[in-house]
Amino acid sequence: MSESDLLARHRAVMPNWLSLFYDRPIEIARGSGRRVTDAEGNTYLDFFAGILTNAIGYDVAEISDAIRAQVDTGVLHTSTLYLIRKQVELAEQIARLSGIPDAKVFFTNSGTEANETALMIATQYRRSNQILALRNSYHGRAFGTIAITGNRGWSASSLSPVKVSYVHGGYRYRDAFGSLSDADYIKACVADLRDVLQTATSGDVAALIAEPIQGVGGFNVPPDGLFGAFKEVLDSYGILLISDEVQTGWGRTGEHFWGIQAHGVTPDAMTFAKGLGNGLAIGGVVARGEIMDSITANSISTFGGNPVATAGAKATVDYLLDHDLQGNAAKLGTLLLAGLRDLAERHDIVGDVRGKGLMIGLELVASGGTDPSPSHAAAVMEETKARGLLVGKGGLHGNVIRLAPPMTLTDEEAREALDILGASIAAVQKGTK
Ligand code: PMP
Repeated sequence: MSESDLLARHRAVMPNWLSLFYDRPIEIARGSGRRVTDAEGNTYLDFFAGILTNAIGYDVAEISDAIRAQVDTGVLHTSTLYLIRKQVELAEQIARLSGIPDAKVFFTNSGTEANETALMIATQYRRSNQILALRNSYHGRAFGTIAITGNRGWSASSLSPVKVSYVHGGYRYRDAFGSLSDADYIKACVADLRDVLQTATSGDVAALIAEPIQGVGGFNVPPDGLFGAFKEVLDSYGILLISDEVQTGWGRTGEHFWGIQAHGVTPDAMTFAKGLGNGLAIGGVVARGEIMDSITANSISTFGGNPVATAGAKATVDYLLDHDLQGNAAKLGTLLLAGLRDLAERHDIVGDVRGKGLMIGLELVASGGTDPSPSHAAAVMEETKARGLLVGKGGLHGNVIRLAPPMTLTDEEAREALDILGASIAAVQKGTK
């Protein structure tokens, strides 16, 4: 069956709001290293699935072997009501890596569920249903997490019971304080936080949740230190800081293992998912023990932390630590950022190049101006695909090209992607004249 038949069947049986990339969406049939091959036999360098799923890449022997060893026992899963060795080992490892004192870990099957759990423990611990989130945030698609998602394009319902107030500090390129220096931007955001606390809440807020670099929102990088400055204010109220590391964790940003560490602060809780299982469904929360244990009722997750997912995730974390993939992300991120900044100098449809490590965004704008141009972003995506490179798209206006390759990326592959992006952006720029 061809990809277009499959697309027609997908459209007929699945909801309209389930997004697909590309005019002609592809079916990925095989993968190896950083490359995937679609059902029609076209091969692409994958510069997007690195965050979404494949932190390490495709067909990694160490990870497949760990999963296969569990499959070979004949038990894919029974229940988290029994002891699961890999789950405990992975939890110990994440607790240690988190830097959070007396940390405890709870596993889920997704980032949404991880954030729902974080909301549950924070609101229970603080006995408050008030939450602060950043404007332009994305935290998930369930009833609580859509409320703390500060982007109407993704907030699928407005009926959530969570009381949320939004603060500045997310989308610096276009927000009200965007033109200020780093230091003044932080001051303005802290003043905004204080103002929101006084005018929009009763003060006894449970937590502030933030992505250290906004993912869906367009890879927006706040100045280092912003969340450290926020924490001082939060501490004076007893409000918790939750870092949503679903996209920024595991060394992706190059300079730190967790994105929040760029802000000189240890959060009270962190959530994670996506790349952790290198393609398997796993997520979770790591939090100070007293916050995690504030739930007194029983609660379980039938599949969260199952033996297949935790075996794959443990092998993934071991692999990225053993191979210093954080160091590789820093090195190749620097190379890519320099190449892309050079490209932006020569093409005025690239309004902004930003990112850290292997999390890089290109904001596309109308030629000669700064108006967001989702049509240029869509065109660049089609051009790169035609040249054998998959990239992502996002941002409030759908005009940000997002690059997030697996962290095993090589120098040659980084240069290949730069060449393809250069040719693709040039083709789109030419079409605007
Ligand atoms: N948090 C962040 C920062 C995300 O980027 C996402 C997914 N885009 C989520 C939470 C939700 O994760 P999931 O899709 O696994 O539910």
